[in-house]
Amino acid sequence: MKKILIANRGEIALRIIRTCKKMNIETIAVYSEADSDLPYVKQADSAFLIGPPPVAQSYLKAQEILDIAIKEGADAIHPGYGLLSENAQFAKMTEDAGIRFIGPDSAVIASMGDKIKARNTMIQAGVPVVPGQESKSADLESALAFAQKAGYPVMLKASNGGGGVGMVHCKDEQALTQHFESTKKRSESYFGSGDLFIEKYIPNARHIEVQIFGSADGEIYHLFERNCSIQRRNQKIIEESPSPNLSDDARAHIFKVAIQAAKAVNYKNAGTIEMIVDENENAYFLEMNTRLQVEHPVTEMITGIDLVEWQILTAQNIPLPVSDQHQIGEKGHAIEFRVYAEDPVTFYPSPGEINTATFPEGEGVRIDLGYEQGNKITPYYDPMIAKIIFSDQTRESCLKKAEHALNEVQIEGVKTNIPLFQQVLKSESFKQGKYHTQTLEQLKKGEN
Ligand code: ADP
Ligand code: ADP
Ligand code: MG
Repeated sequence: MKKILIANRGEIALRIIRTCKKMNIETIAVYSEADSDLPYVKQADSAFLIGPPPVAQSYLKAQEILDIAIKEGADAIHPGYGLLSENAQFAKMTEDAGIRFIGPDSAVIASMGDKIKARNTMIQAGVPVVPGQESKSADLESALAFAQKAGYPVMLKASNGGGGVGMVHCKDEQALTQHFESTKKRSESYFGSGDLFIEKYIPNARHIEVQIFGSADGEIYHLFERNCSIQRRNQKIIEESPSPNLSDDARAHIFKVAIQAAKAVNYKNAGTIEMIVDENENAYFLEMNTRLQVEHPVTEMITGIDLVEWQILTAQNIPLPVSDQHQIGEKGHAIEFRVYAEDPVTFYPSPGEINTATFPEGEGVRIDLGYEQGNKITPYYDPMIAKIIFSDQTRESCLKKAEHALNEVQIEGVKTNIPLFQQVLKSESFKQGKYHTQTLEQLKKGEN
């Protein structure tokens, strides 16, 4: 490959450019009118304006983006995460145009993008899934009937949801009745499908996911796990690896299940098997993300592997530098913080111009930034300013480093969620590694 078009924006576009430079591959960026000054646009070898700020008129314009790739002679398209990355039709159009889509086959994207279908595929493959419905809730009556049988609380979910959107925790019949229609409408408008289903709600659970990789020659490897249980609105904001407080047996089991899940769809390229782990360390398949994950740097820090490089190699059918699971090692500990322009209390986005943006530097500190001083956070996109990733020999030293370095971050002009990170780092539950998906809410209420 000599030239790659990056169908994305912000930090992930810049991160992909970095690896392309290392591999001597030219990059083509696309950008909306709101993003012309962002670092990734400047760093790309060439950049093309695709339209006004709203994503429907810019970053989701599949044909327009593909046309640029064709006209500019791109060999491949990297979709990043979000936006078109899990759009099977876009992957198919790209393949049909003779351009490589850096990711799995479009058919695999389609089969995993629908959570109901994915659950059924996993059940067939013998992978444990969260107890739930095997087909969509046709209407409120069937949802209520299922929930009654399974027992409350339940999670009402959009089959095509993502980013924590389209999901409601219902503690009883009344809540389910109240949320059913509005969740359906919301899912229709966000994800183009109002299909909903019900899962049993797992209390005090941990979100533990496994990075997997399918090589060009059909092998599936795992690159260990990430604990992503510090979340707000069902979306991760802190991720770490290895997961604290996870027994060796449970860990080995999770890796086995993840590989089994990826094999069930003959997975190729980078992917993530997300699992929910209950208080007794039972792990259940939640979903598969058929793309690079936001928190992939955590895995890169502990393994020393450049996942984007592996993705690009695999898309060209070039073998990986490893040929056996044992050649993939892990070293030390890593943790990522997603710095958002948002109010740390209400979690509302805080758009505005970034007047100051200085980040700490040093060994074991990685900054994946999307914006720099003078850029504006606009209301059109996810307001993540940067990801800050720390690594060190042990969890304890890594957390110390993080606490120290986060104090040095200076961002002015917009509010950020850094104060929340400091609070998490100081809490006993986090220090001891005994935290779950509700911990952040509890900390906010003043519990420790
Ligand atoms: P990951 O699973 O990679 O950690 P997230 O769960 O944070 O990523 O988000 C999943 C995807 O959904 C991301 O690719 C992100 O860009 C996108 N996303 C994030 N927030 C929203 C949102 N509010 N609405 C729709 N999509 C979103
Ligand atoms: P998305 O596609 O939006 O990422 P996921 O199914 O991966 O949706 O779930 C996102 C988060 O929502 C999980 O990490 C977890 O915190 C919470 N969650 C999802 N399903 C359940 C469940 N059945 N029980 C408890 N929490 C859940
Ligand atoms: Mg998920």
